Amino acid sequence: MPQTYTGNLTNLPLEALVACHECDLLMRREPLEPGEKSCCPRCGFELAVHRQQWQRRCFALVLTALLLYIPANFLPIMHLTLLGQTRSETVWTGVLGLFESGMPGVAVLVLLSSMAIPLVKLLCQLLVLLSLRFKVARGTGMRLYRAYHHLREWGMLEVYLFAILVSIVKLIDIADLSLGIGLACFVALLLTQVWLELNMSSYQVWETLSSE
Ligand SMILES: [Zn+2]
Repeated sequence: MPQTYTGNLTNLPLEALVACHECDLLMRREPLEPGEKSCCPRCGFELAVHRQQWQRRCFALVLTALLLYIPANFLPIMHLTLLGQTRSETVWTGVLGLFESGMPGVAVLVLLSSMAIPLVKLLCQLLVLLSLRFKVARGTGMRLYRAYHHLREWGMLEVYLFAILVSIVKLIDIADLSLGIGLACFVALLLTQVWLELNMSSYQVWETLSSE
């Protein structure tokens, strides 16, 4: 692991400096060899990692996530039998159900946080990766990556999954309930997105966007 320098930094240009995301300690940016990572000497926060083959891995993950998006949202999450009637519930029918129940505000919020924003985030990531891969439209790539960072807090798939699990636990005593393929796709989509975010490190994306 490279040593980070925190001595006299006054004569260094801004590009040569890095601030710790957690404790704001200012340091000199050290070049990383493939596979190396640097951590903050004060709080231990991981400042940067130099992953190899990260663009190919991210491409595969973003395409997988986009393929999972349709079944996760439009295939049944659960089949519910109550008083002799069976219904199949999907994320999309959940949004429509909220709207028809007189809760348009909540319906719009669920639509945005569980369907629209996760899709826009994935498309931003795909376009940034395409910009990096083909070395085109770097300015647009930077704007899209900035937009992606602003959207991160608004895509809440994990909150929606938690709500699904709570409703399953509550319904299991009063109705005959079986889980659908949509739930497996939803969990797979969530895990793929987490894996993608771990691999698509901001450090390497910004470095590549601004260097070539
Ligand atoms: Zn720190």
